[in-house]
Amino acid sequence: MYFTRSEIKSTKIKRYFQKDGRHFVELEENPFYEDGAGGQIGDRGFIDSARVLYVSDLIEVDGPLNAGSTVEIKIDSERRKEIARQHTAQHIISAVIEKHYGAKTVGFHMGEEDTTIDLDGTFNIEETENFSNDIVLSNLKVEEIILTPEEASKYELRKDLSEKAIKSGNVRLIKIEDFDLNACGGFHVGSTSEIGIIKITHSERVKGGLTRIWFVAGKRALKDYQMKSQVLYESAKIFDASWMDLKARIQKSLDDLKEKNATLKKMAEKLANYISKEIHPFEILELDESVASFLTRIRQDIPYAVKISGTNNVSFSLPNYDRSKVMDTAKILGIKGGGNGPIYRFATENPAIFMEKIREG
Ligand SMILES: [Zn+2]
Repeated sequence: MYFTRSEIKSTKIKRYFQKDGRHFVELEENPFYEDGAGGQIGDRGFIDSARVLYVSDLIEVDGPLNAGSTVEIKIDSERRKEIARQHTAQHIISAVIEKHYGAKTVGFHMGEEDTTIDLDGTFNIEETENFSNDIVLSNLKVEEIILTPEEASKYELRKDLSEKAIKSGNVRLIKIEDFDLNACGGFHVGSTSEIGIIKITHSERVKGGLTRIWFVAGKRALKDYQMKSQVLYESAKIFDASWMDLKARIQKSLDDLKEKNATLKKMAEKLANYISKEIHPFEILELDESVASFLTRIRQDIPYAVKISGTNNVSFSLPNYDRSKVMDTAKILGIKGGGNGPIYRFATENPAIFMEKIREG
């Protein structure tokens, strides 16, 4: 594994302060990799017994520390290894896509769950995944080479050297045998097989005509596999099917549901027709939404109300009543809603009171 940070075991607290109940320190010598530097997530670990929460110029910790004191540094090395796997996987994916499809990597961002790469150009995801995993399984050696910018300029790099790298005086190249060579300051594995597996989980077109891919590698890929298997297994169980048949079973269930909904709609319309013939003036009914909706379309020549089951929504049929009078009555009773007549929709728990007021005139 190649880490850009020294493995110092102790240092001094240069500064400590609290802000809004949060704790911040500045170390005399900072061995923690910063969050977001080079697109990578930061180190975690401990400063004495205080847990590191976030690393930038200042380090946020979960408890107080004493300025001036000498502290013990513990860096979460498992996290570093996992970051190295994601980061080296990014080198491989970017190189594969550039080599096979000529699409350039223009951005890269590592998150706590997955990593994204923004690419300019088109490529086949399944092929990219296969080619990338061939590189992983070929167990290629990953080397770190430190050169001056002049020396580095003699090499053919995948990406041009950044201004920052040139100014720093030392360029750190990451070489994956004769497969890829790129300047980078992040964490990397010692051989590609340490990555385990690379899985592209998602892709999307993003602004600027770019394609963004999301990927996981190493233990993250295993976790992704475990979680998805679990969901698939449990979903298949609901359908009493094997996971292979799940998609077909879901489709069939949706088709069945569509058919049943169509039948239900026809029945609701029929029922509304029957009811429409039996309504008395000023009657208040309670019906299912679909039946009520048909009914208020079919019958609009007498006053009546339909409360939608399980809600406070009431549809009123009020022909031959002035709209302004209907709205005034609602206002007096503090009832919200409206309509253009003869059908109105109001929210009320007691439609009888409203109907009585209308009837009284
Ligand atoms: Zn890198």
